[in-house]
Amino acid sequence: MATNSTIEWTQSTWNPVAGCTVVSPGCVNCYAMRLSRRLEAMGQSKYEGLTRIGRGGAVWNGRIRLDEESLSLPAKWSSGRMIFVNSMSDLFHQSVPLEYIQRVFDTMRRTRQHTYQILTKRAARLEQLDDAIDWPANVWMGVSVESSDYRSRIDHLRRTGAKIKFLSLEPLLGPLDRLELNGIDWVIAGGESGPGSRPVDPDWVRSIRDQCVTSGVTFHFKQWGGPNKKKTGRLLDGRTWDQFPLTATATSP
Ligand code: SF4
Repeated sequence: MATNSTIEWTQSTWNPVAGCTVVSPGCVNCYAMRLSRRLEAMGQSKYEGLTRIGRGGAVWNGRIRLDEESLSLPAKWSSGRMIFVNSMSDLFHQSVPLEYIQRVFDTMRRTRQHTYQILTKRAARLEQLDDAIDWPANVWMGVSVESSDYRSRIDHLRRTGAKIKFLSLEPLLGPLDRLELNGIDWVIAGGESGPGSRPVDPDWVRSIRDQCVTSGVTFHFKQWGGPNKKKTGRLLDGRTWDQFPLTATATSP
């Protein structure tokens, strides 16, 4: 099923895959694994058996479900929109076969009215499969980097043929100074929100903003986060940052 999204930088979500595995500290409070458990309890078979109960609540158990029926969904939306692909998984998870990833790309290539945003933490696999992917212009490819320990994901992304490349620096868990932004079109930053959220230092965000401004890279500040994200809001030094890649189409939210 595809749904309208409350995520600030997209309009809809589309999930041809469900399920994942925690891979790095940015996954600890993964919203998708909690939501998957709730959707299973509500009787949605797509999310059945994808999580187990750990000490802190629902945790992915590593099972992946390929939802072939959803592959045709974007073709049913005639008006163009910005679509976040796989908010409930990671398209480049090791258990998603290349052949299936290529079918997801076929759908995106055939529905040029939409702009697709893909995010992965499996950047090494992304680069490994790059030669087998025919990159359409309406696909923006991003990697998530939560702290300096994972900045190598940016290098993997840079070496792919994706036409638009972006970084999601959230949940931001540490400083990210001296980022190599060559070849990067867009940067999103944000603090973690929800129960058990880890705090973000405003100077980490300021540093990223300043690096983007200096490098001419568009910048989007999503939120400060915390237990009540509405209260903390998304003003950074008195203003919002809602930029999108310079090549963004009229579908930008
Ligand atoms: S990679 Fe994404 S979907 Fe998978 S556990 Fe981490 S945050 Fe959740």
